[in-house]
Amino acid sequence: MLAIVAMTVSVFIIEKKQSDRMSGRNKPETYSEIFNTNLPSDYTVTVADEEEFNQKIIVLLQKDYSEIGGYTESGDAKLLPLLNKDEKIAKATTDMKFLKDYYPEGYYLVVNSVLKTPEKEQQFPNFYRRSMGEENRANILVHELSHISIIVNASKYDIFGYLIEDKFVNFNKLTNTPKGDELLKYISESTSLDDKYLKENKQDIYTTFDEIVAYTKSVRVTRAFAYKNKATIDEDSTQGLSRQLYFLSLHLKNIKENHPDRWGNLKKEKGFVYIMTRQISIAKTEIQVAKDEGVWGSTGTDFAGSIDKNLSWFNENQALFDELFTATGIGSMNNLQNITQQELIKLGIKIKKF
Ligand SMILES: [Zn+2]
Repeated sequence: MLAIVAMTVSVFIIEKKQSDRMSGRNKPETYSEIFNTNLPSDYTVTVADEEEFNQKIIVLLQKDYSEIGGYTESGDAKLLPLLNKDEKIAKATTDMKFLKDYYPEGYYLVVNSVLKTPEKEQQFPNFYRRSMGEENRANILVHELSHISIIVNASKYDIFGYLIEDKFVNFNKLTNTPKGDELLKYISESTSLDDKYLKENKQDIYTTFDEIVAYTKSVRVTRAFAYKNKATIDEDSTQGLSRQLYFLSLHLKNIKENHPDRWGNLKKEKGFVYIMTRQISIAKTEIQVAKDEGVWGSTGTDFAGSIDKNLSWFNENQALFDELFTATGIGSMNNLQNITQQELIKLGIKIKKF
């Protein structure tokens, strides 16, 4: 789930500086790190799929859904005015054009998610119930649909796995992993994100990882939005991503210190350790690019804390990641970004086109 934080400030001077930074750059995804050079992504949406998708979303938006499972509105979102049918369709049309033109990964994800989800489990209309800002709406849509668990009856897929680029990725998963509220004891400067994800949702290590995958896409949406509008990059998503990375490192700390049996099991999970290594690298690159392009926003609020502090706390636990790299043998593999399909299979990783 994604915490919604309104971006209310816009200052001319900062926007000017931002447009200077953005000028001459290519589209945002050009600067994102890819998962594996042997598995290039193809975000092509066929004309037939696009037509089916366009018809489907209009039918969905014209029905009067209340919230459907998987996604629930939280916090201030409930206070926003409800939209009528025409407004819903107009906003969805605007958003799909934005994603198609500026963020092809996101467009591919939304189209295929809607096409593959049975009608009674469609989440799409949830994101068009209320009058949200354009950027928040596109962000929440892509973020939430990135959570594969949201496609409840995804019979084509094993229910556990992650959507990375145009791929559905899965591997062996340990059972009985510790709950997220066990991490709260390690946190000295708490934020509202900790309450939501650790205290209330008690997210385990795999759910935290899913948030890293989803928040990486959130950062891309905000970068694409800033690029299109020559405006500032809203910092919230980058904060959120860095905080989830920090949580991931705390999961390792907690498992090692308090659940030695499971730490022993984790040291055998080559598939997870490989995917985690790659996704951490992708997420860190995304944060760095956002910083280079100039994130700006609500630092100083308690949403997800400071990006740099979160990263430095993450780095304090680097030895734990190193221990897993060594134990699984991932650390001694060369060129993790371009290993072959066969090597991936040997690690117990299954990859299908989403
Ligand atoms: Zn989420």
